[in-house]
Amino acid sequence: MSTKLSDIGEFGLIERLTKDIKIKNPSTLTGVGDDAAIIDYKDKVAVVSTDMLTEGIHFNLMYVPLKHLGYKSVVVNLSDIYAMNAIPKQITVNIAVSSKFSLQAIEELYSGIHLACKYYNVDLVGGDTTSSMTGLVISITALGEAAKEDIVYRGGANETDLLCVTGDLGGAYMGLQLLERENEVFKVNKQMQPQLSGYDYILERQLKPEARKDAVEIFKKLGIKPTSMIDISDGLSSEILHLCKTSGLGCDLYEDKIPMDKQTKAMAEELNINPIVAALNGGEDYELLFTIPLSGHEKVKNDPDITIIGHMVKKENGANLVTTGGSSIPLQAQGWNPLKK
Ligand code: ADP
Ligand code: MG
Repeated sequence: MSTKLSDIGEFGLIERLTKDIKIKNPSTLTGVGDDAAIIDYKDKVAVVSTDMLTEGIHFNLMYVPLKHLGYKSVVVNLSDIYAMNAIPKQITVNIAVSSKFSLQAIEELYSGIHLACKYYNVDLVGGDTTSSMTGLVISITALGEAAKEDIVYRGGANETDLLCVTGDLGGAYMGLQLLERENEVFKVNKQMQPQLSGYDYILERQLKPEARKDAVEIFKKLGIKPTSMIDISDGLSSEILHLCKTSGLGCDLYEDKIPMDKQTKAMAEELNINPIVAALNGGEDYELLFTIPLSGHEKVKNDPDITIIGHMVKKENGANLVTTGGSSIPLQAQGWNPLKK
């Protein structure tokens, strides 16, 4: 079934997209339905972050299912809230859609958005709906709360701090390479079925990434508060450089310490790409990069979710990758930059 958006109109669409919303958080006093939402964080501070995704630039609907796109659009925003050591509680969703989309397609997108809201326990409290001449644009704003003293900034790292990362890196990038390869094959021969078996983990890293909602809990459990933190959306290199610059420091990152999944390495080998490049420059892993005081070494060293990948040094030393062979190479920000061609 395919219903034209023009048949139900803007208000009909909003009604369909928001009718099943049930408020989960006590801080959400008023959600969808009035001129504005009302949020009450009592004695906590509000943390706000927003992101915009455009068709053809950030996603390709040839191989990204709309439901996954909806899910991922929420996750990338929540990741920014977690990166402040805060807990996301509400989102607003703005969409611009062209007439090529049916009601069912937009409902599919929203099914992913609602699923992410459920998994991350956030309320969808508002948004805006408008039309676009060509593709789809999604802009999401996430709101979260934290005690003021718990907030972790990018600029708080100290010399000798340990540089740490959650999870593993490079998977989302290798998943994208695989999808693009299969898409090229499909364009030439429409009978070809994509060869994706054995690569479920990296495909999931690309199509259905998760934000580190467990990080705040892990830090509490281990009794550590990071001195600085950032989420890895643009690749490890570029995020490390952000931490270094904002903190006024340099760092040594050890190549052989960078955590990577075996599927990431296998795909890299198949495509003749150095997996380190995927981790450094690939992006979209949505892991957390953070620093802790040297004294926290014992606390994190055996945690399965955390890897120590280097340490902070004086600014004059610069930010370097120390290779397995022992040479030191300056890190470069080659991360995802849509304006650079
Ligand atoms: P206004 O004319 O004040 O902008 P709208 O008619 O655009 O109001 O929106 C009505 C209600 O629906 C508001 O609460 C708004 O936040 C919500 N809303 C509009 N578009 C969306 C959307 N795409 N997703 C979620 N909520 C939406
Ligand atoms: Mg509006």
